[in-house]
Amino acid sequence: MSDLQTAPCRVLDGVAVAKAIRDGLAERVATLRGRLGRPPALGIVLVGNDPASEVYVRGKVRTGAESGLTVDLIRMPATASLDDLLAEVRRLNASPAHDAILVQSPLPAALGPHAEMTVFETIDPAKDADGFSPINVGRLVQNRATLRSCTPAGVMEMLRRSDIPIAGRRAVVIGRSDIVGKPMALMLLHANATVTVCHSRTADLPAVAREADILVVAIGRTGFVTRDFVKPGATVIDVGMNTLTDAATVEAWYPPDSKRRATFAKAGSLLVGDVDPRVAEVAGALTPVPGGVGPLTVAMLMNNTVVAAEARSSS
Ligand code: NAP
Repeated sequence: MSDLQTAPCRVLDGVAVAKAIRDGLAERVATLRGRLGRPPALGIVLVGNDPASEVYVRGKVRTGAESGLTVDLIRMPATASLDDLLAEVRRLNASPAHDAILVQSPLPAALGPHAEMTVFETIDPAKDADGFSPINVGRLVQNRATLRSCTPAGVMEMLRRSDIPIAGRRAVVIGRSDIVGKPMALMLLHANATVTVCHSRTADLPAVAREADILVVAIGRTGFVTRDFVKPGATVIDVGMNTLTDAATVEAWYPPDSKRRATFAKAGSLLVGDVDPRVAEVAGALTPVPGGVGPLTVAMLMNNTVVAAEARSSS
C-alpha cells in the first residue's frame, strides 16, 4: 500500500453487481412472460467469425438464457453485403417475436467505414438494445433515454450500488468513443458530477486525470493509466479489454505466486485492462479486469431487452 493512502483499495466486484442487476430483472421477466405469452426476446446479428466477437456473443447468449430471456443468434457470413445486413435488421425491426436487436461490433471492414453508423440509423429506436441509434443518443443528451449504451450504464450501476458519491465530484473520462466515452460523460453529467473528457490530443493527461474523484478509462491501451494518473483515494473504473502477451509486464504487475501469473503460464496471454493494476496502491476503489465492467455490460444488455419489451407490451 502507498504511503499516500491509509485505507486499502476496494475491489469493485462486477460479477456480483451484474448478478444483482440480473436478479432484479427476474420478476419483470415473469410479468412479461404472462403479458407477451413468451419471454422477452433479443435478436443478435453476428457477421463473420471474429474470434473476440464469438466469445462476447456466446457470453450474451448464455447470460440471456440464465436471465430467462430468449436470445436468437443470427449468423451471417463475412461475405454478406451491407444490403444483406440491413435487410436482416429490417426483418428484426418488423418481427413481432423480437423486442430488442443488437448487431455485434466490429463489422467486417469490407462492409465499409460507415457500416456501423448505417446500422445504428436502421435499427428501430424502440428495439435498440445497445442504445446507439441517433434517436436514443439524442434522448441521452436530453437525459430522457430509456435505452442507454450498456457499458456506461453498467458503470453507473456499479458506482451507485457501491455507494460511491457522484454528485458534486470531479469525474474524468479518458476516451471519447460513441459507444463508451461520450455516453459515459453524459451519464456522469446527469448524475451531477463535474465532468472532463480526455482523448489522444489532451495536453498533460496525467495532471488532468489526477483531478478526478472518479476516473473512467476507455482507450484500448494495455496498462496505459499508471499511479501517476490517480489522485490518492480516487475511484478508478477500467473499461479496457486488451490481450497481454508480454511476460516482462506480467512479472512486473503480479506477484510470483499469484493466480494471474499461473493463468499466463498456462495460456500465454491474459485479458487485462487499460489500467496498470498497481494503481491499487493509490486508488480508493478499482474495477478489476476481468470481472469488472465486462459482466455489467452484459447485464445492462439484458436490462435494455426487458425495458424494450415492457415498452412494446404496454404500447
Ligand atoms: P475506441 O473507439 O478505439 O476509442 C478509443 C478512445 O481512446 C478514443 O477517443 C481515443 O482518442 C482515446 N485514446 C486512444 N489512445 C489514447 C491516448 N494515448 N491518450 C488518450 N486517449 C487515447 O475505443 P472504445 O470502443 O471506446 O473501447 C475502449 C476500450 O474499452 C477497448 O479496450 C475496448 O475493448 C473496451 N471496451 C470494453 C467494454 C466492456 O464491456 N468492458 C465495452 C466496450 C469497450 P481520440 O478520439 O483522440 O482518437
